[in-house]
Amino acid sequence: MSLIVATNITKDYQTGDVTVRALKGLSFEIEPASFVSFVGPSGSGKTTLLNLIGCLDKPTDGKLMVAATEVLHLDRKQSASFRGSNIGFIFQDFNLIPVLTVYENIEYPLLMVQNMPTAERNQRVNALLTAVGMTDQKDKFPDQISGGQKQRVAVARALVTNPKLVLADEPTANLDHKTAYMVIELMRKMRDEFGTTFIFSTHDQKIVGEAEIIFTIEDGELKGKENKGGGGNG
Ligand code: ADP
Ligand code: MG
Repeated sequence: MSLIVATNITKDYQTGDVTVRALKGLSFEIEPASFVSFVGPSGSGKTTLLNLIGCLDKPTDGKLMVAATEVLHLDRKQSASFRGSNIGFIFQDFNLIPVLTVYENIEYPLLMVQNMPTAERNQRVNALLTAVGMTDQKDKFPDQISGGQKQRVAVARALVTNPKLVLADEPTANLDHKTAYMVIELMRKMRDEFGTTFIFSTHDQKIVGEAEIIFTIEDGELKGKENKGGGGNG
């Protein structure tokens, strides 16, 4: 069964008496364990779309199923709970908490999970530190590590709750090319290891080539889908 089914979704933003139609009837499906990118120029609707998939905002019209849930019907509290158990987020500017160490940043989402024994929490954080190659840096603070290392921590933090889906909005925009490739490679490795679906957006044509499924978005419309196969079942 598809992890995401979008059917003719539109999104309007209202500013004063001006309505901007940011998404103009998008339909697509994404299978579990896929490695997907949405590529398009600035203003094409990538962030808007990822916010809808991530249940941070609601479509104006259409249907959107994520993990067998029609997200249109969730209220704010239900959306928050749905995100907490199904979705991890990675941001362009890393969004690490500056006063927490690398270890504590990764641990942070688990502190919201009720009744998790300390031993299990430690075990999960340590496993992810190893997976992203940051064990040696675990006691450092974000301002003591590089941009690429910060994004590796952010990848670990996104995965620590075992989500079905990780959304990354322009995760490489603040990284040089070599580091950008390494972060995308790391995400793909994590998909292979944990079976988590990754969806990232980018306006960088070189980075997008690393995805297995590429959706091109322009002016709020899907202009194409390229399926390059690869390790997923998409
Ligand atoms: P991208 O992430 O591809 O750069 P966005 O999703 O941010 O594109 O924006 C798509 C369109 O929606 C743009 O025309 C943008 O100006 C508009 N838009 C985005 N967010 C808002 C908002 N909160 N209010 C009004 N217009 C918005
Ligand atoms: Mg954007």
